[in-house]
Amino acid sequence: MDHVTGFRCMLCGAEYGLDEVDYVCPLHGDDGILDVVYDYDAIGARLSREALAACPERTMWRYKALLPVAPDAVVPPLRVGWTPLYPAPRLAEKVGLETVWVKDDGVNPTASFKDRASALAVVKAQAAGAEVITTASTGNAAAALAGLAASVGLPAVIFVPRSAPPAKIAQHLIYGARVFLVDGSYDDAFELTLKVAREVHWYNRNTAYNPFMTEGKKTAAYEICEQLDWQVPDVVFVPVGDGCIIGGMHKGFKDLLALGWTDRMPRLMGIQAEGSSPLVQAFDRGLAAEDMVPVAVHTVADSICASLPRDRVKALAAVRQTGGAFLAVSDAEILGAIPIIAQATGVFCEPAAAASYAGLVSAVDKGMVSAGERVVLLLTGSGLKDVGSAMKTVAAPPVVAPTLDALRAVL
Ligand SMILES: *Cc1c(COP(=O)(O)O)cnc(C)c1O
Ligand SMILES: [Zn+2]
Repeated sequence: MDHVTGFRCMLCGAEYGLDEVDYVCPLHGDDGILDVVYDYDAIGARLSREALAACPERTMWRYKALLPVAPDAVVPPLRVGWTPLYPAPRLAEKVGLETVWVKDDGVNPTASFKDRASALAVVKAQAAGAEVITTASTGNAAAALAGLAASVGLPAVIFVPRSAPPAKIAQHLIYGARVFLVDGSYDDAFELTLKVAREVHWYNRNTAYNPFMTEGKKTAAYEICEQLDWQVPDVVFVPVGDGCIIGGMHKGFKDLLALGWTDRMPRLMGIQAEGSSPLVQAFDRGLAAEDMVPVAVHTVADSICASLPRDRVKALAAVRQTGGAFLAVSDAEILGAIPIIAQATGVFCEPAAAASYAGLVSAVDKGMVSAGERVVLLLTGSGLKDVGSAMKTVAAPPVVAPTLDALRAVL
Protein backbone atom coordinates (compact mmCIF):
# COMPACT_ATOMS: atom_id res chain seq x y z
CA MET A 1 0.00 0.00 0.00
CA ASP A 2 2.71 2.51 -0.88
CA HIS A 3 0.02 4.91 -2.16
CA VAL A 4 -1.13 5.47 1.46
CA THR A 5 1.35 7.42 3.56
CA GLY A 6 -0.52 7.23 6.88
CA PHE A 7 -3.00 9.09 9.08
CA ARG A 8 -3.32 12.74 10.07
CA CYS A 9 -5.28 13.83 13.15
CA MET A 10 -8.16 16.19 12.32
CA LEU A 11 -7.67 17.98 15.66
CA CYS A 12 -3.93 18.40 16.20
CA GLY A 13 -2.44 17.50 12.82
CA ALA A 14 -0.20 14.76 14.29
CA GLU A 15 0.80 12.19 11.68
CA TYR A 16 0.96 8.45 12.20
CA GLY A 17 2.01 5.45 10.16
CA LEU A 18 -0.75 3.00 9.26
CA ASP A 19 0.38 0.54 11.93
CA GLU A 20 1.00 3.11 14.66
CA VAL A 21 -2.58 3.71 15.80
CA ASP A 22 -5.76 1.63 15.91
CA TYR A 23 -8.59 4.04 15.14
CA VAL A 24 -8.11 7.53 16.61
CA CYS A 25 -5.34 9.95 17.62
CA PRO A 26 -4.55 8.86 21.18
CA LEU A 27 -4.18 12.48 22.34
CA HIS A 28 -7.96 13.20 22.43
CA GLY A 29 -9.76 10.15 23.80
CA ASP A 30 -12.26 8.83 21.26
CA ASP A 31 -12.56 12.21 19.51
CA GLY A 32 -9.22 12.19 17.68
CA ILE A 33 -10.72 11.42 14.29
CA LEU A 34 -8.06 10.63 11.70
CA ASP A 35 -7.81 11.39 8.00
CA VAL A 36 -6.14 8.92 5.65
CA VAL A 37 -3.24 10.55 3.75
CA TYR A 38 -2.28 9.55 0.21
CA ASP A 39 0.66 9.92 -2.14
CA TYR A 40 -1.13 11.39 -5.18
CA ASP A 41 1.94 11.10 -7.41
CA ALA A 42 2.01 7.35 -6.80
CA ILE A 43 -1.73 7.08 -7.51
CA GLY A 44 -1.51 9.26 -10.62
CA ALA A 45 1.28 7.08 -11.97
CA ARG A 46 -0.95 4.01 -11.68
CA LEU A 47 -4.39 5.25 -12.69
CA SER A 48 -5.75 7.82 -15.13
CA ARG A 49 -9.16 9.01 -16.27
CA GLU A 50 -8.56 7.19 -19.56
CA ALA A 51 -7.76 3.91 -17.80
CA LEU A 52 -10.93 4.31 -15.74
CA ALA A 53 -12.99 4.86 -18.88
CA ALA A 54 -11.84 1.43 -20.04
CA CYS A 55 -12.36 -0.24 -16.63
CA PRO A 56 -15.04 -2.94 -16.73
CA GLU A 57 -15.48 -2.99 -12.90
CA ARG A 58 -18.86 -1.36 -12.34
CA THR A 59 -18.62 -1.06 -8.53
CA MET A 60 -16.83 1.21 -6.04
CA TRP A 61 -13.78 -1.02 -6.50
CA ARG A 62 -13.04 0.58 -9.89
CA TYR A 63 -11.33 3.16 -7.64
CA LYS A 64 -9.26 0.60 -5.70
CA ALA A 65 -6.05 2.52 -6.49
CA LEU A 66 -7.54 5.47 -4.56
CA LEU A 67 -8.61 3.40 -1.55
CA PRO A 68 -6.63 2.24 1.50
CA VAL A 69 -6.47 -1.39 0.40
CA ALA A 70 -3.74 -3.51 -1.15
CA PRO A 71 -3.97 -3.85 -4.96
CA ASP A 72 -4.58 -7.60 -4.57
CA ALA A 73 -7.04 -7.30 -1.66
CA VAL A 74 -10.04 -9.59 -2.06
CA VAL A 75 -13.23 -7.56 -1.85
CA PRO A 76 -16.77 -8.71 -0.92
CA PRO A 77 -18.75 -10.19 -3.82
CA LEU A 78 -21.79 -7.91 -3.45
CA ARG A 79 -21.98 -5.10 -6.02
CA VAL A 80 -21.54 -1.88 -4.05
CA GLY A 81 -21.42 1.56 -5.67
CA TRP A 82 -21.36 2.79 -9.28
CA THR A 83 -24.95 3.72 -8.58
CA PRO A 84 -26.99 5.62 -11.19
CA LEU A 85 -26.90 9.39 -11.53
CA TYR A 86 -30.24 10.25 -13.11
CA PRO A 87 -31.06 13.59 -14.77
CA ALA A 88 -34.12 14.96 -12.94
CA PRO A 89 -35.58 17.66 -15.25
CA ARG A 90 -39.03 17.65 -13.62
CA LEU A 91 -37.51 18.06 -10.15
CA ALA A 92 -35.36 20.90 -11.54
CA GLU A 93 -38.41 22.58 -13.02
CA LYS A 94 -40.24 22.42 -9.68
CA VAL A 95 -37.55 24.55 -8.03
CA GLY A 96 -36.83 26.78 -11.03
CA LEU A 97 -33.40 25.35 -11.86
CA GLU A 98 -32.07 24.15 -15.20
CA THR A 99 -30.08 21.11 -14.15
CA VAL A 100 -30.61 18.68 -11.27
CA TRP A 101 -29.37 15.11 -11.01
CA VAL A 102 -30.22 12.53 -8.36
CA LYS A 103 -27.65 9.95 -7.26
CA ASP A 104 -29.64 6.86 -6.28
CA ASP A 105 -27.71 5.02 -3.60
CA GLY A 106 -30.82 3.12 -2.56
CA VAL A 107 -29.90 0.56 -5.24
CA ASN A 108 -26.91 -0.68 -3.23
CA PRO A 109 -27.13 -4.31 -2.00
CA THR A 110 -28.64 -3.47 1.40
CA ALA A 111 -30.42 -0.40 -0.01
CA SER A 112 -28.37 2.46 1.42
CA PHE A 113 -25.23 4.53 0.94
CA LYS A 114 -23.75 2.80 4.01
CA ASP A 115 -22.77 -0.22 1.90
CA ARG A 116 -19.82 1.82 0.57
CA ALA A 117 -18.33 2.14 4.06
CA SER A 118 -19.28 -1.31 5.30
CA ALA A 119 -17.71 -2.98 2.26
CA LEU A 120 -14.40 -1.32 3.09
CA ALA A 121 -14.80 -2.16 6.79
CA VAL A 122 -15.15 -5.85 5.94
CA VAL A 123 -11.99 -5.76 3.81
CA LYS A 124 -10.05 -4.03 6.64
CA ALA A 125 -11.40 -6.44 9.29
CA GLN A 126 -10.34 -9.43 7.24
CA ALA A 127 -6.92 -7.92 6.57
CA ALA A 128 -6.55 -7.41 10.33
CA GLY A 129 -7.47 -11.05 10.95
CA ALA A 130 -10.51 -10.04 13.04
CA GLU A 131 -12.90 -12.82 13.98
CA VAL A 132 -15.85 -10.52 14.67
CA ILE A 133 -16.87 -7.14 13.30
CA THR A 134 -19.17 -4.78 15.16
CA THR A 135 -20.89 -1.43 14.80
CA ALA A 136 -23.30 0.94 16.42
CA SER A 137 -25.84 2.35 14.00
CA THR A 138 -29.13 4.15 13.64
CA GLY A 139 -29.99 1.19 11.39
CA ASN A 140 -28.51 1.47 7.90
CA ALA A 141 -24.82 1.16 8.76
CA ALA A 142 -25.66 -2.00 10.67
CA ALA A 143 -27.81 -3.40 7.87
CA ALA A 144 -24.95 -2.73 5.48
CA LEU A 145 -22.44 -4.33 7.82
CA ALA A 146 -24.66 -7.36 8.44
CA GLY A 147 -25.13 -7.89 4.70
CA LEU A 148 -21.53 -7.33 3.65
CA ALA A 149 -20.27 -9.49 6.55
CA ALA A 150 -22.70 -12.26 5.56
CA SER A 151 -21.36 -12.11 2.00
CA VAL A 152 -17.92 -13.18 3.23
CA GLY A 153 -18.98 -15.29 6.24
CA LEU A 154 -17.67 -12.88 8.90
CA PRO A 155 -19.67 -12.81 12.18
CA ALA A 156 -21.19 -9.37 12.90
CA VAL A 157 -22.49 -7.88 16.15
CA ILE A 158 -24.92 -4.97 15.90
CA PHE A 159 -25.97 -2.30 18.41
CA VAL A 160 -28.96 -0.18 17.37
CA PRO A 161 -31.43 1.95 19.32
CA ARG A 162 -34.58 -0.08 20.02
CA SER A 163 -36.54 2.61 18.13
CA ALA A 164 -34.91 1.73 14.77
CA PRO A 165 -37.47 1.08 11.94
CA PRO A 166 -38.55 -2.59 11.77
CA ALA A 167 -37.35 -3.08 8.18
CA LYS A 168 -33.80 -2.24 9.21
CA ILE A 169 -33.91 -4.55 12.24
CA ALA A 170 -35.30 -7.26 9.95
CA GLN A 171 -32.23 -6.83 7.73
CA HIS A 172 -29.85 -7.22 10.69
CA LEU A 173 -31.60 -10.39 11.85
CA ILE A 174 -32.10 -11.99 8.45
CA TYR A 175 -28.44 -11.51 7.55
CA GLY A 176 -27.65 -13.48 10.71
CA ALA A 177 -25.95 -10.76 12.74
CA ARG A 178 -26.07 -10.89 16.51
CA VAL A 179 -28.34 -7.94 17.30
CA PHE A 180 -28.66 -5.91 20.48
CA LEU A 181 -31.49 -3.38 20.69
CA VAL A 182 -30.06 -0.74 22.99
CA ASP A 183 -32.52 0.79 25.40
CA GLY A 184 -31.28 4.28 24.63
CA SER A 185 -30.26 6.53 21.77
CA TYR A 186 -27.86 5.98 18.87
CA ASP A 187 -25.30 7.93 20.87
CA ASP A 188 -25.72 5.48 23.79
CA ALA A 189 -25.29 2.55 21.39
CA PHE A 190 -22.14 4.19 19.99
CA GLU A 191 -20.50 4.53 23.42
CA LEU A 192 -21.41 0.96 24.34
CA THR A 193 -19.83 -0.36 21.14
CA LEU A 194 -16.60 1.50 21.82
CA LYS A 195 -16.36 -0.09 25.26
CA VAL A 196 -17.21 -3.65 24.30
CA ALA A 197 -15.07 -3.71 21.14
CA ARG A 198 -12.01 -2.61 23.10
CA GLU A 199 -12.58 -5.24 25.73
CA VAL A 200 -13.07 -8.22 23.43
CA HIS A 201 -10.98 -7.06 20.42
CA TRP A 202 -13.74 -6.98 17.82
CA TYR A 203 -13.05 -4.95 14.68
CA ASN A 204 -14.99 -1.71 15.11
CA ARG A 205 -16.76 -0.11 12.14
CA ASN A 206 -18.22 2.79 14.15
CA THR A 207 -18.80 5.79 11.90
CA ALA A 208 -16.07 8.47 12.07
CA TYR A 209 -14.19 6.64 14.85
CA ASN A 210 -13.06 4.20 12.16
CA PRO A 211 -11.12 6.48 9.76
CA PHE A 212 -11.69 4.20 6.77
CA MET A 213 -15.45 4.85 6.63
CA THR A 214 -14.81 8.28 5.07
CA GLU A 215 -12.72 6.51 2.42
CA GLY A 216 -15.48 4.11 1.41
CA LYS A 217 -17.97 6.95 1.25
CA LYS A 218 -15.79 9.21 -0.89
CA THR A 219 -16.28 6.86 -3.86
CA ALA A 220 -19.68 8.51 -4.50
CA ALA A 221 -17.90 11.80 -5.25
CA TYR A 222 -15.62 10.02 -7.74
CA GLU A 223 -18.63 8.45 -9.42
CA ILE A 224 -20.51 11.75 -9.75
CA CYS A 225 -17.51 13.36 -11.47
CA GLU A 226 -16.83 10.40 -13.74
CA GLN A 227 -20.54 10.10 -14.63
CA LEU A 228 -20.55 13.82 -15.54
CA ASP A 229 -17.48 13.36 -17.73
CA TRP A 230 -15.30 15.07 -15.08
CA GLN A 231 -17.37 18.28 -15.19
CA VAL A 232 -17.73 18.95 -11.45
CA PRO A 233 -21.27 19.98 -10.41
CA ASP A 234 -21.73 23.40 -8.78
CA VAL A 235 -23.63 22.28 -5.70
CA VAL A 236 -24.13 18.91 -3.99
CA PHE A 237 -26.86 18.37 -1.36
CA VAL A 238 -26.06 15.79 1.31
CA PRO A 239 -28.28 14.66 4.21
CA VAL A 240 -26.23 14.85 7.42
CA GLY A 241 -26.42 12.98 10.71
CA ASP A 242 -22.94 12.11 11.98
CA GLY A 243 -21.37 13.97 9.08
CA CYS A 244 -19.34 11.06 7.70
CA ILE A 245 -21.00 11.08 4.29
CA ILE A 246 -20.47 14.79 3.72
CA GLY A 247 -16.88 14.47 4.98
CA GLY A 248 -16.41 11.59 2.57
CA MET A 249 -17.81 13.58 -0.34
CA HIS A 250 -15.40 16.40 0.51
CA LYS A 251 -12.48 13.98 0.59
CA GLY A 252 -13.48 12.47 -2.75
CA PHE A 253 -13.74 15.81 -4.54
CA LYS A 254 -10.42 16.94 -2.98
CA ASP A 255 -8.68 13.74 -4.12
CA LEU A 256 -9.74 14.34 -7.72
CA LEU A 257 -8.53 17.93 -7.57
CA ALA A 258 -5.19 16.79 -6.13
CA LEU A 259 -4.84 14.31 -8.98
CA GLY A 260 -5.56 17.04 -11.52
CA TRP A 261 -8.54 15.07 -12.85
CA THR A 262 -10.93 17.94 -12.04
CA ASP A 263 -10.37 21.68 -11.86
CA ARG A 264 -12.59 22.85 -8.99
CA MET A 265 -14.69 21.92 -5.97
CA PRO A 266 -18.50 21.92 -5.68
CA ARG A 267 -20.21 23.72 -2.80
CA LEU A 268 -21.30 21.10 -0.28
CA MET A 269 -24.68 21.70 1.37
CA GLY A 270 -25.29 19.74 4.57
CA ILE A 271 -28.99 19.13 5.26
CA GLN A 272 -30.15 18.24 8.76
CA ALA A 273 -33.58 17.68 10.26
CA GLU A 274 -34.75 20.62 12.37
CA GLY A 275 -35.12 18.32 15.37
CA SER A 276 -31.54 17.09 15.00
CA SER A 277 -29.54 20.05 13.74
CA PRO A 278 -26.46 20.60 15.92
CA LEU A 279 -24.27 21.20 12.86
CA VAL A 280 -26.65 23.85 11.53
CA GLN A 281 -26.44 25.62 14.89
CA ALA A 282 -22.65 25.34 15.04
CA PHE A 283 -22.40 26.64 11.47
CA ASP A 284 -24.74 29.58 12.09
CA ARG A 285 -22.91 30.55 15.28
CA GLY A 286 -19.43 30.05 13.86
CA LEU A 287 -18.63 27.44 16.51
CA ALA A 288 -15.59 25.17 16.27
CA ALA A 289 -16.39 21.45 16.20
CA GLU A 290 -14.48 21.04 19.47
CA ASP A 291 -16.92 23.37 21.23
CA MET A 292 -20.06 21.45 20.26
CA VAL A 293 -21.96 19.63 23.01
CA PRO A 294 -24.64 16.91 22.81
CA VAL A 295 -28.19 18.22 22.30
CA ALA A 296 -31.59 16.54 22.65
CA VAL A 297 -32.73 15.25 19.24
CA HIS A 298 -35.86 13.87 17.63
CA THR A 299 -36.83 13.47 13.96
CA VAL A 300 -38.79 11.19 11.65
CA ALA A 301 -35.56 10.90 9.63
CA ASP A 302 -34.00 8.27 11.91
CA SER A 303 -30.85 7.91 9.78
CA ILE A 304 -29.84 11.51 10.46
CA CYS A 305 -30.71 11.62 14.17
CA ALA A 306 -27.49 12.25 16.11
CA SER A 307 -27.07 14.45 19.17
CA LEU A 308 -23.32 14.98 18.87
CA PRO A 309 -22.30 14.23 15.27
CA ARG A 310 -19.29 11.92 15.46
CA ASP A 311 -17.72 13.31 12.31
CA ARG A 312 -18.40 16.96 13.17
CA VAL A 313 -14.83 18.09 12.46
CA LYS A 314 -14.85 16.70 8.92
CA ALA A 315 -18.46 17.80 8.34
CA LEU A 316 -17.86 21.43 9.29
CA ALA A 317 -14.65 21.50 7.25
CA ALA A 318 -16.50 20.10 4.22
CA VAL A 319 -19.05 22.89 4.26
CA ARG A 320 -16.81 25.76 5.35
CA GLN A 321 -13.96 24.96 2.96
CA THR A 322 -16.25 24.65 -0.07
CA GLY A 323 -18.33 27.78 0.57
CA GLY A 324 -21.46 25.69 1.20
CA ALA A 325 -23.89 25.88 4.10
CA PHE A 326 -25.76 23.80 6.64
CA LEU A 327 -29.55 24.05 6.47
CA ALA A 328 -32.31 22.61 8.64
CA VAL A 329 -35.58 21.26 7.21
CA SER A 330 -38.70 20.26 9.13
CA ASP A 331 -40.06 16.73 9.43
CA ALA A 332 -43.10 17.88 7.43
CA GLU A 333 -40.83 19.13 4.62
CA ILE A 334 -38.86 15.87 4.71
CA LEU A 335 -41.96 13.68 4.51
CA GLY A 336 -43.48 15.90 1.82
CA ALA A 337 -40.35 15.49 -0.28
CA ILE A 338 -40.69 11.68 -0.47
CA PRO A 339 -43.60 11.55 -2.97
CA ILE A 340 -42.33 14.63 -4.83
CA ILE A 341 -38.97 12.96 -5.55
CA ALA A 342 -40.64 9.64 -6.34
CA GLN A 343 -43.15 11.16 -8.76
CA ALA A 344 -40.60 13.39 -10.49
CA THR A 345 -37.84 10.80 -10.85
CA GLY A 346 -39.17 7.30 -10.12
CA VAL A 347 -36.83 7.00 -7.12
CA PHE A 348 -38.50 6.11 -3.79
CA CYS A 349 -36.30 7.12 -0.88
CA GLU A 350 -36.42 7.02 2.91
CA PRO A 351 -36.99 10.19 4.99
CA ALA A 352 -33.30 10.99 5.60
CA ALA A 353 -32.58 10.79 1.87
CA ALA A 354 -35.55 12.99 1.01
CA ALA A 355 -34.06 15.69 3.24
CA SER A 356 -31.67 16.50 0.38
CA TYR A 357 -34.55 17.71 -1.81
CA ALA A 358 -36.19 19.58 1.09
CA GLY A 359 -32.80 21.27 1.55
CA LEU A 360 -32.67 22.21 -2.13
CA VAL A 361 -36.09 23.87 -1.88
CA SER A 362 -34.92 25.83 1.15
CA ALA A 363 -31.62 26.83 -0.47
CA VAL A 364 -33.37 28.08 -3.62
CA ASP A 365 -35.83 30.05 -1.46
CA LYS A 366 -32.92 31.68 0.32
CA GLY A 367 -31.21 32.56 -2.98
CA MET A 368 -28.26 30.26 -2.24
CA VAL A 369 -28.45 28.46 -5.59
CA SER A 370 -28.89 30.23 -8.91
CA ALA A 371 -30.95 29.04 -11.85
CA GLY A 372 -28.06 28.08 -14.12
CA GLU A 373 -26.12 26.08 -11.54
CA ARG A 374 -25.75 22.31 -11.90
CA VAL A 375 -27.03 20.53 -8.80
CA VAL A 376 -26.71 16.96 -7.51
CA LEU A 377 -28.95 15.51 -4.78
CA LEU A 378 -27.58 12.53 -2.91
CA LEU A 379 -30.43 10.06 -2.30
CA THR A 380 -28.89 7.94 0.41
CA GLY A 381 -31.41 5.21 1.15
CA SER A 382 -34.41 3.32 -0.25
CA GLY A 383 -38.00 4.13 0.69
CA LEU A 384 -38.62 0.47 1.48
CA LYS A 385 -36.48 0.97 4.60
CA ASP A 386 -39.31 2.86 6.28
CA VAL A 387 -42.68 2.27 4.64
CA GLY A 388 -44.51 3.49 7.76
CA SER A 389 -43.19 7.03 7.36
CA ALA A 390 -43.80 7.05 3.60
CA MET A 391 -47.45 5.99 4.05
CA LYS A 392 -48.08 9.10 6.15
CA THR A 393 -47.57 11.21 3.02
CA VAL A 394 -50.24 9.62 0.82
CA ALA A 395 -54.00 9.06 1.09
CA ALA A 396 -55.27 5.53 1.68
CA PRO A 397 -56.57 4.09 -1.62
CA PRO A 398 -60.26 3.15 -1.92
CA VAL A 399 -61.24 -0.49 -1.50
CA VAL A 400 -63.54 -1.71 -4.29
CA ALA A 401 -65.63 -4.82 -4.81
CA PRO A 402 -64.24 -6.84 -7.78
CA THR A 403 -66.96 -5.75 -10.20
CA LEU A 404 -66.97 -3.16 -12.97
CA ASP A 405 -70.09 -1.55 -11.53
CA ALA A 406 -68.48 -1.02 -8.17
CA LEU A 407 -65.40 0.41 -9.85
CA ARG A 408 -67.48 2.77 -12.02
CA ALA A 409 -69.13 4.09 -8.88
CA VAL A 410 -65.81 5.27 -7.46
CA LEU A 411 -64.06 6.29 -10.69
C1 LIG B 1 -26.32 7.44 7.58
C2 LIG B 1 -27.25 8.09 6.66
C3 LIG B 1 -27.19 9.46 6.39
C4 LIG B 1 -26.25 10.41 7.06
O1 LIG B 1 -24.90 10.04 7.02
P1 LIG B 1 -23.89 10.59 8.12
O2 LIG B 1 -22.59 10.10 7.74
O3 LIG B 1 -24.37 10.04 9.46
O4 LIG B 1 -24.01 12.07 8.13
C5 LIG B 1 -28.08 9.98 5.46
N1 LIG B 1 -29.00 9.20 4.87
C6 LIG B 1 -29.10 7.88 5.10
C7 LIG B 1 -30.14 7.10 4.41
C8 LIG B 1 -28.23 7.28 6.01
O5 LIG B 1 -28.35 5.97 6.25
ZN1 LIG C 1 -4.44 14.54 17.57
